Amino acid sequence: TGRLYQFKLVLLGESAVGKSSLVLRFVKDQFDDYRESTIGAAFLTQTIGLDNNTTVKFEIWDTAGQERYKSSLEKAKSWVKELQRQADPNIVIALAGNKSDLSARRVIDTEEAKAYADDTGLLFFETSAKTATNVNELFTSIARKMPLD
Ligand code: GDP
Ligand code: MG
Repeated sequence: TGRLYQFKLVLLGESAVGKSSLVLRFVKDQFDDYRESTIGAAFLTQTIGLDNNTTVKFEIWDTAGQERYKSSLEKAKSWVKELQRQADPNIVIALAGNKSDLSARRVIDTEEAKAYADDTGLLFFETSAKTATNVNELFTSIARKMPLD
């Protein structure tokens, strides 16, 4: 018994923010300081077991970002606007503030990002693909918020 739900999960964000690294941590529990950048899009799958015999399988699309911004919160906001305009209204959006291990080089204030996420109805985690902090929490929270009927 048990139920399997399958969803697409897409990572969006500027080049070098750590999208591929988050996926690599989540899917293989690995980290690579010298990753080759993604060309086009990469496709991976990972399943998460929830309570009550429910399994969520994510088909993960890791996209290649093109641009580099000094601070990517404004760009993240523009992605969210685009998704809210174009995507299915049941979409679940999570904001990940990655590289939380580099605390001395922080560029985005936690409270500012959290306030934005709360106002906009996004999940929000500060993650580190390097140390694994909050990576499983991020993906598990997304799975829990998916519409499971
Ligand atoms: P992408 O272009 O968004 O897919 O970014 P990558 O996953 O290719 O990562 C870009 C660079 O940042 C690589 O050198 C990674 O090793 C590094 N990186 C990614 N995530 C983290 C993190 O959480 N902490 C630290 N310190 N470095 C990270
Ligand atoms: Mg990448």
